[in-house]
Amino acid sequence: MKHAYFARTWMVILAACLALPARAEWVRRVTDGIMGTRITVELWAEDKDKANQAIDAVLDSMRYIDETMSTYKPASEVSLVNARAADGPMPITKELFDLLTKAREYSVITDGAFDITYASVGYMYDFRKHVRPSEGDIEKALPAVDYRHVLLDPKNQTVQFSQKGVRIDLGGIAKGYSVDRGIDVLKSLGFTRAYVSAGGDSRIIGDRFGKPWLVGIRDPTKGEGAVITRIPLVDAAISTSGDYERYFEENGVRYHHIIDPRTGHSASLVRSATVIGPSATRTDGLSKTAFVLGPEKAMEIYNRLDDIDAIIVKLDGTVIHSKGLEPAH
Ligand code: ADP
Ligand code: MG
Repeated sequence: MKHAYFARTWMVILAACLALPARAEWVRRVTDGIMGTRITVELWAEDKDKANQAIDAVLDSMRYIDETMSTYKPASEVSLVNARAADGPMPITKELFDLLTKAREYSVITDGAFDITYASVGYMYDFRKHVRPSEGDIEKALPAVDYRHVLLDPKNQTVQFSQKGVRIDLGGIAKGYSVDRGIDVLKSLGFTRAYVSAGGDSRIIGDRFGKPWLVGIRDPTKGEGAVITRIPLVDAAISTSGDYERYFEENGVRYHHIIDPRTGHSASLVRSATVIGPSATRTDGLSKTAFVLGPEKAMEIYNRLDDIDAIIVKLDGTVIHSKGLEPAH
């Protein structure tokens, strides 16, 4: 009798458990190939199916940004701008107009170190194929590099290049921007704890239940996987630029993908720069500065910006950081 009673009780408890909704959990997906980089999305979800649908939506929004903003795609809106904007004012989408406006703001903040017209020279480099322009080619194209050549008319939402030969490339902010749009997608679907990253650009919403997220900063002097430190973050974005990302070496010189807009050559004044701030578009836009201006000048700029912190690995491997990262006393 007694045994039968227990058995029945367990059956009831088991049935109750099976009827419960799926347990909330962290869902993580890593995808390669969008924007030529690795995308990671991780979120806390009550329901695994909804989490996977949300991650699909984030990836779709990134594919769309790649389609419209990549200069590798001849039909993208940015490619059309490059083909036509020297001929006269050209109407563009609000999304592109707003991003070009932000790009201009970052150029002003960084004394021109960040400059999307770097591409007027930059298009002649192919880091995968180890191709670089001759000094003569650089000299000829260099006058077209200047963010002030990009004329933006907010009233008519048009863009115009002030001279022929100007090209733009959003490779310096597109990944950060796509991370921000991905976070917007997740927020609009009601997610409150999530991590989205595209290559070296990441953003976080919420915490990990009383604990921060820990984002590793790669050690540029060591192989993949080695980190110099892990930064605890809640509701923040973080971008790292490194000279190890896309480069080739020739006669002992390292040619890598950040270009000094003043010279048209690879900008090599630091090994890596990590910027922490409120949005990934902003941290991406600011992380290239140290390569062009050098660690001291760049740190001066970062320290002037109240919403920005930074960690720079200098050429000799020493690490410096902004005032906001000093330990509290
Ligand atoms: P990732 O592409 O891995 O996010 P970065 O954030 O460091 O790497 O951005 C490097 C990219 O920025 C280059 O591949 C190029 O598209 C673009 N870029 C290079 N030099 C400049 C510059 N001076 N200003 C703005 N963008 C640049
Ligand atoms: Mg980036």
